[in-house]
Amino acid sequence: MVYENCRIYGPYLQSDGRYFIQIIFPDGRRKSTAYARYLVEIDQNRYLEGSETVHHIDRNKTNDVLDNLKIVDRIKHVMLDHKRIRDQIFICQVCKKHFILTGSQIGKLINNRKRKNNLLKRGPFCSRKCRGYASHYPDKYETLRVEAEYFYLENN
Ligand SMILES: [Zn+2]
Repeated sequence: MVYENCRIYGPYLQSDGRYFIQIIFPDGRRKSTAYARYLVEIDQNRYLEGSETVHHIDRNKTNDVLDNLKIVDRIKHVMLDHKRIRDQIFICQVCKKHFILTGSQIGKLINNRKRKNNLLKRGPFCSRKCRGYASHYPDKYETLRVEAEYFYLENN
């Protein structure tokens, strides 16, 4: 049986909004794992592979009931839920300061460029102020190439 003679603490609500538990094995080893994963492992009576992850069908990560849980391949799962764009650092062409665009800002910027094909919008710039300034001198500033870099948030 899985987790035989283990002591289980929790579930506790994690800061990312998921429940996890702490497991202490008879030999003293400790492991913390998502409560959802634990429930599925108990139900299936096997330990899930590293390539397997547990998906909340209704997308509510606190809804840890078996009917709402499904084993999916980790790669597929990240496609479903956890694909994110990395933050990137740029140098403002106006003030020369470094600034960060968050992943979601980068996603929006790329979409805007695609949608409007608006390469005349120079930048990106660090602020409205610098964008405003640059708009008066369109020939002086470039449209920097911005490409999304993706990463995946790990589940469990
Ligand atoms: Zn600036």
